Amino acid sequence: MTVKLGFHVSISGSLSKSIDNALSLGCSAFQIFTRSPRQWKTKDIPIEDSTLFIKKLKESPIGFDSVVVHMPYLPNLSAPPSEMYTKSFEVLKEELIRCNILNIPNLVIHLGSHLGKGPKNGITQLTNACNTALNDFHDSSEKKNNVKILLENSAGQKNSVGSSIDEISEIFDGLKTGDFGLCLDTCHAFGAGYDITNENGVVHLMDLISNKIGFNRLKVIHLNDSKGQLGSNLDRHYHIGIGKIGENAFKFLLNNKELRHIPFIMETPIDKVRGNSDNMLFAKNLLQGST
Ligand SMILES: [Zn+2]
Ligand SMILES: [Zn+2]
Repeated sequence: MTVKLGFHVSISGSLSKSIDNALSLGCSAFQIFTRSPRQWKTKDIPIEDSTLFIKKLKESPIGFDSVVVHMPYLPNLSAPPSEMYTKSFEVLKEELIRCNILNIPNLVIHLGSHLGKGPKNGITQLTNACNTALNDFHDSSEKKNNVKILLENSAGQKNSVGSSIDEISEIFDGLKTGDFGLCLDTCHAFGAGYDITNENGVVHLMDLISNKIGFNRLKVIHLNDSKGQLGSNLDRHYHIGIGKIGENAFKFLLNNKELRHIPFIMETPIDKVRGNSDNMLFAKNLLQGST
């Protein structure tokens, strides 16, 4: 089985255009927003759009399980009770429905900020939002939910929830069903203080995940190098292998047979140093014994 590797790609034009964008970059996995990530309101997905998306994806070499949806940026599911929290919860419910319509099984969410109320409060708000969104889905839909909500580890910015594996493990303790998983962002992990610059460091992090969360919960990896230093709490993505993490981590992850079923999504910048095709080439060159 070849590695599932790709980028966050644009849906500009139409949802199904994202599949063309992914294929033109040589992706075997990809991530999208189902709507503008910087707006609260959205329109329902027209049936023609979802039908075309599903048809095109079926005809492509990319499997549905290699496609990931990222929640918009605005929601804060760890916020204290407020209009912000209510709106964030609505977006989560909408995205759960949209992923089910599009047959996309992976929905990545940010864990948000407790805004000074403390991690315990943040975690309670977050787990309530997640549990209730799923309950509401089951109550309102005849179909069974086929989407996993994937918690993405944060870089540990001020008041952020879920930068440590311990804290994410606590969040999982509050989630009532098996409809949840983990999306590991390598840049965020490094920013949060996990030294993954060498193989031992990566193995240590994987062991922590196995012991405290469960390896089978790991569903997506956001494969990003870091512009910020180890433990800097900075969320600054950089090109694969030439940031502060360096290529060892990526080489190890990409060649790890136990991770072959997991989509690796790069969210790397596009600038004078490299574009997406350069990062794809670099990542593919790290793959041993493959073409
Ligand atoms: Zn993210
Ligand atoms: Zn990030």
